[in-house]
Amino acid sequence: MKRRNFLKNSSAAAAGLISTSVIAAGDKKNRSEIDTAKTTQTTTPIVIATWDVSNATAKAWEVLRKGGVALDAVEQGVMVEEADVENQTVGKGGRPDREGRVTLDACIMDKDSNCGAVLCMQNISHPISVARKVMEDTPHVMLAGLGAEQFAYEKGFKKEDLLTEKSKKEWLEWKKTSKYQPVINIENHDTIGMLAIDKNGDIAGACTTSGMAYKISGRVGDSPIIGAGLFIDNQVGGATATGVGEEVVRTVGSFLIVELMRQGKTPQQACEEGVNRIIEKNRGKLNFQIGFIAVNKKGETGGYCIQPGFSYRTYNKDGHINTPSKSHIKA
Ligand code: ASP
Repeated sequence: MKRRNFLKNSSAAAAGLISTSVIAAGDKKNRSEIDTAKTTQTTTPIVIATWDVSNATAKAWEVLRKGGVALDAVEQGVMVEEADVENQTVGKGGRPDREGRVTLDACIMDKDSNCGAVLCMQNISHPISVARKVMEDTPHVMLAGLGAEQFAYEKGFKKEDLLTEKSKKEWLEWKKTSKYQPVINIENHDTIGMLAIDKNGDIAGACTTSGMAYKISGRVGDSPIIGAGLFIDNQVGGATATGVGEEVVRTVGSFLIVELMRQGKTPQQACEEGVNRIIEKNRGKLNFQIGFIAVNKKGETGGYCIQPGFSYRTYNKDGHINTPSKSHIKA
């Protein structure tokens, strides 16, 4: 990763002294495996994302560092993963449904509780940007399937084949047995959810995925559902999810976590309570993964998951850190 300069402190950012108050935090790049007890972040601006998506968080931080708003930061941040064909769970290169179609889901939410989403959309590599257009240019919140795709073309998005040779080959291999077992899977479940707080203290979030690999055609999970895969309340904080979407929808997980923070829980406590709610509903049958991350208005962060293996990236003036999440089931 390139060496970058970072804001010395958030008050400098608030005062607009971005270009003059900098430290070289590239020195801290080896702090990737740190004690989760020390991960609470207390300064803004900040970005946090599900999984170790360092290129995405670096992009979002670049936007924040230059004084950009949280909404632009999260959109541009997750676009990095949507464009990465090596990432087979988001955007172009995502694994297809059982018919071989790559269908994408995404949603975005801003500081004023405006939101937009696209569901089960094909042939467009940046669903997050289409979701933003839904939010900004229509009176609606969600567009699905062919309607979303048509809307995207009207807004100037280009048609692209999203099925890469690698994903196609794997799908053809899968078809030999067609075994549909959406159970524990770190690899098959890595939606990118991203939350950011900008220099004004405003919060925005984005969530984007190709969903569960080899899903039944038309299946949509939690990721484009406001309140489930993502929720922002600018007075309180934000939360976003990764993992088996059906379980997140059942508890309206991200909304729940934000409400728990409103009641006084820290982001860490709220994420743990959100995961525990899902655990209770499943009465001990925990053969799947769920991970939540959250940030509150102060810039404190948290993350929690069921299975070991989930991590999240944060980027603020203190550095660019990958934090292995605490998990209900221990490694
Ligand atoms: N949450 C996504 C879904 O259920 C899957 C994932 O996190 O990869 O569609």
